[in-house]
Amino acid sequence: MRLKNQDYPHLSYIGLGSNLAQPMQQIERALQALAQLPQTKLCQYSSLYHSPPLANMPQPDYINAVAKLQTALSPWELLQQLQQIENQQGRMREERWGARTLDLDILLYDNQEFTDSHLTLPHPAMLQRAFVLYPLYECCPNLLFPNGITLADTLTFCSAGDLTRIDYAINIDTTA
Ligand code: ATP
Ligand code: MG
Ligand code: MG
Repeated sequence: MRLKNQDYPHLSYIGLGSNLAQPMQQIERALQALAQLPQTKLCQYSSLYHSPPLANMPQPDYINAVAKLQTALSPWELLQQLQQIENQQGRMREERWGARTLDLDILLYDNQEFTDSHLTLPHPAMLQRAFVLYPLYECCPNLLFPNGITLADTLTFCSAGDLTRIDYAINIDTTA
């Protein structure tokens, strides 16, 4: 049965990152997997971006993107689905912020603000990360954070630094 728009009542933004095993293809595969999630619609995704690793850690550069989803899954169900996709794409968890084939973080889920043992929303580090904020701006230039601050204002305090947009076309149907 085909679901209607009102069957996906929640809006969520997902941050994607990869710096191992052909990162651009990892991100493309992950977007395809997001498009296949149950009770969820992939509405939009940003360009791919190239970014240096956090705190100059000795590891390859990253490819990042942001995806916009509408979903009927709860935040915890969505996190579980994202971790399943990470695992399918060979994610290993050895050291914190270590190199990875795929990282999928929930940046925002409606206007929810909470922390529990599995999840913090909004994602606690997103406001400091150019590789999150710039692709997010592509998806939603007039986005308001749950605290009422605009993404546009936040960007004025976050330099793009070495972040660069990549010319790499991905064609995934976002109208289904
Ligand atoms: P960072 O969170 O700084 O980007 P990371 O993405 O590398 O670091 P992970 O190893 O992917 O961290 O995740 C560690 C734990 O973070 C996960 O097991 C998950 O339960 C928890 N977590 C808390 N909030 C979130 C969120 N908003 N999105 C994804 N994972 C989250
Ligand atoms: Mg992360
Ligand atoms: Mg993560």
